[in-house]
This record gives sequence, C-alpha cells and structure tokens, in this order.
Amino acid sequence: MDIRAETDKLCIIGAGPSGLAAAKTFKQRGIPFDCLEREGDIGGLWNAHTETGVVYDSTFLVSSRRHTGFEDFPFPDDYPIYPSHAQVLTYLKAYAKAFGIDERIEFNAEVVEAKRTDGGWRVHVKGESHPRFYKGLVMANGHHHIPRIPKIPGTFSGEIMHSRDYRNVQQLAGKRVVVAGGGNSACDIVVDATSVAKSVHQSLRRGYHFVPKFILGRPTDGIVHFFENFPMPYWLRNRLYTRWMRLMAGRPEKFGLPKPDYWILDSHPTMNTILPQLVAHGRIDIKPDIAEFDGNLVRFADGSEVEADLVVFATGYEISLPFLDNDLVFDADGKPILYLNVFHPEYDDFFAVGLIQANGSIWRLADDQSTLIASYLIARSKHDPKAEWFAEKKRRGIAHRSYVQSERHTLETNYFAYRRLAKKLIRRFGALAKQSLSGAPLKSDVVESEPFIAAIEAAETPCVNGAKAEIAKTPSAAKKKSAAGASSSVSAK
Ligand SMILES: Cc1cc2nc3c(=O)[nH]c(=O)nc-3n(C[C@H](O)[C@H](O)[C@H](O)COP(=O)(O)OP(=O)(O)OC[C@H]3O[C@@H](n4cnc5c(N)ncnc54)[C@H](O)[C@@H]3O)c2cc1C
Repeated sequence: MDIRAETDKLCIIGAGPSGLAAAKTFKQRGIPFDCLEREGDIGGLWNAHTETGVVYDSTFLVSSRRHTGFEDFPFPDDYPIYPSHAQVLTYLKAYAKAFGIDERIEFNAEVVEAKRTDGGWRVHVKGESHPRFYKGLVMANGHHHIPRIPKIPGTFSGEIMHSRDYRNVQQLAGKRVVVAGGGNSACDIVVDATSVAKSVHQSLRRGYHFVPKFILGRPTDGIVHFFENFPMPYWLRNRLYTRWMRLMAGRPEKFGLPKPDYWILDSHPTMNTILPQLVAHGRIDIKPDIAEFDGNLVRFADGSEVEADLVVFATGYEISLPFLDNDLVFDADGKPILYLNVFHPEYDDFFAVGLIQANGSIWRLADDQSTLIASYLIARSKHDPKAEWFAEKKRRGIAHRSYVQSERHTLETNYFAYRRLAKKLIRRFGALAKQSLSGAPLKSDVVESEPFIAAIEAAETPCVNGAKAEIAKTPSAAKKKSAAGASSSVSAK
C-alpha cells in the first residue's frame, strides 16, 4: 500500500480509545482517513449512554490515572487517582476535541462488511446502498461486544445475566446472587452485591492473584512501573513480583480464596483491594466451577449447591469480527496471526489497533501501534529501505508469550515487554517516526487536558435553576480553569 494522494484514504472502524488514538496519529501525520463509528457518540465501551458501553456505576479505571492516560494528553492533576467511567468518557471526549478529531468521525456508520479486493477495501456501511472504497482498513472495533456464557447442563429457573448487562446494584438488591468469574468486572459485581444482595456466592474456576490498587500508600502500577526500570529475566521478575505481592497483600488462600497455581505475571491480574477482606469477613461464599443447574439450585463442581435468584456470568467476551473474513486475523485455534497483534504478515493494507489485553494501559499500546502503522506507511510511500526491513519483520512474526490456558487469554500480552518492543521499533524508524506524509517534522507537544475537560463539562453539565450544576470531583476541582481558555493550551514536552 502506497499512500500518495488525498483520495487514498484509510478506513478506521471504531471511535473508542483505540480508534481515537489511530485517528489522532493519522491526522498529525497527514495520512488521509475516515473514522466510522456505529454509535452516535465516541468513547466505545466507556460510554454508558450507548449500546456499546459496558460500564456499570462502580466501574473505575483499574490502572491509575498517571499510567493510563495518553502520554501526549495526561489526565488533569485534580482527577482522582483511579477515575470513574464518567470521568474517563469526559477525558476521551476532551482528547478528541483537543486533537481536532471529533469533527472527523462519522457517527451512526456501522460497517457491516469489509472485503479485501485487488485495489483496496470494499466497505459496506449499514443503510448505504453503495459500498465505499478505501485504500486500507484499520480495525479498531474493540473486543468487548459479544458475551461469552459457558454452557451449563440443566435448566435454571431464575435470572441469568452477563456482566455486559450489569449497570447498578438495583439489579442485585434482595436477591440470592451467584457470580461466575474472577476478573475485574466479576469482582466489582461481587463487591457491589455484598451491600444489597440477600446472599453472595462467587464461583471461581481457579485461583487468582488479587492485587490491591494501593501498596505502601502508592498506586500499585506506579510501583511496578518503577521496578520495570531494572532489567532482569522474565522468570526472575515473575517470581519476585509473586513473592513481593504475597508479602504486601497476603496469600489469597489465607483469606479463604483458592490458591493460584501460576506465577503472577502469567495472567492478567485482578485489581481489587476489598474482595479478599470481604471473603475473610464471610460476606462472600467462594465456590468452585458451576457444574449444573436444577431449578433454582446451582450445583458446583465439589457437589455443593445453593439456591439462587440470579446468576451473573462475568466470563468474558467472544472475540468475533462479524464484518470481516476472520482468517485475516486468527489461525484455526483462534490465536491472532498478526505481528504485534497489528500487522498482517503479507498484506500492507490491513491493520488492527487495540486487539490486545494487557496488564497496563491499552490506550498507550494503541497509541504506539498507531505510530508504528503511520511510520510504516510513510516509509513505504517514500520507498525507504526501512519499509522492507519492517515488512520482513512482520512476515516472520513473533512468538507470543503464553498465559495460563484459558479462553480469556488469547489476546493477552505483557504490557511492559510489548511497549519496550514497540518503542524500540519506533526508534528504528528514526526520522520517519517523527514526520508527516509530506515530510514535515512533527511537533511532539503534550497538550494540557484540563481546559478541554472543563469545556466538555461546561457543555454537558445540566442547568439547575439556570446555573450550571457543580460537578463533584476532588477538592482541587474548585481551582479548575474556566472553559474560556480551552482553545489553544499547548505546552512543550
Ligand atoms: C469494565 C472494564 C474496565 C476496563 N478498565 C480498563 C483500565 O482501567 N485500563 C485500561 O487500559 N483498559 C481497561 N479496560 C480495557 C478496555 O478494553 C480499554 O480501556 C478500551 O476501552 C479499549 O478501546 P477500544 O477502542 O479498543 O474498544 P472499545 O472501547 O470497545 O471501542 C470500539 C468502538 O468500535 C465501535 N465499533 C465496533 N464495531 C463497529 C462496526 N462494525 N462499525 C463501526 N463501529 C464499530 C464501537 O461502537 C466502539 O465505539 C477495561 C475494560 C472493561 C470492560
């Protein structure tokens, strides 16, 4: 794929964090694109007002503000350390505004089919009678859309729900609740249930490492980022982190949770400070795998059973790309065949952004992925030898570090190892990674998010008796600048 003319557009599918990162990067680099979003608003799964939104009242970032926000658009200092989903959405809207991509997104444009042709991509948008043609396709459509619910023998007479449909505690109030799963959403729902449900049981297929959000009074990911500065073999780091976490937070089995049979870095950690304590208080009854249903009885693998009104499956999502030939992305075992989960080994007109699960900020990985795509496309358009170097790399592919065997982990990657490699590759692109398609050097500015966030809040806060309602935030929110300065606040890195 050789982008030269303004008509040679790429089609970005999705305007969640990954699509926004791709759109921002392409805009900065002068790479022509359309960004198609099926919903009427941006934010992807963080937008509680859309069908795509999967967040519930108690969704907060599991990675801290400092280590999650886009590096060129840090969260404001007066945001909480772990912002709420509503604050994340405001931040994402502010990001789109700050980089001028909000006006570049086509809303209510669902891609129902994308087919690769000789000259590019034929893209069908729902409701349009003719297909569109694009030079390339960037899939940033997320992978938290289709609930995965295990097949359980028997029939359950109560209500069955997937965590995707969980919104607030009212759905749990007064009920005998069983939650299946040990990931972040499962544990949030279990913790919510303890305050309103009649009884709470959590079914765990295996042991999990529960990582508190704070250690030694600091956000845990900050400490981990610090230790990542010291090079050491993966096996050693894995054992050190596991032992250190046991020392700091205690062994899960001491709280009444199953013992994990793997080292901590071998799986996506569950960030939850409260759950082990609630188990120790007897507020959560821990059970093994659900074996069968029988009327209102839920029977577990150890033969025990409980009466239940509601079973919540927080068992993850099926990864499926309904608009695309899935062989372009996955092998027969469902594992991605894309180099870095981004680049097709053969084709130069097809990319994925955000097709990843990691123990760190997905947004930053999406930003790195977008930079790599842009740099590669620019190298190709200039017939630079770096294009051939990178093409060879993606043809050869890389081995993925394997996580604990579980359907949930097909996209799992170690954040730190991935970023180190991405940064190294970006550096290898040299000047190409710092220029636009026309050859103009890029300005590497960090944009101050606070004024843009203030502008979004000012526009969205409902009026109370004619005056804008005050948004409850951290104490320093009172110092927030007025929306007036939102247009051009840019500070050098
Ligand atoms: C409860 C929860 C908490 C999380 N917490 C964190 C966290 O703390 N830190 C972190 O880094 N990550 C977290 N994540 C991971 C999350 O995946 C990322 O934060 C991020 O939302 C991924 O962005 P995305 O753009 O890839 O996908 P999404 O947010 O899912 O956005 C995809 C977009 O594509 C659009 N789309 C899909 N199909 C089509 C189509 N056919 N045509 C047009 N548009 C389409 C969708 O409407 C959507 O807007 C969390 C996930 C969940 C579920």
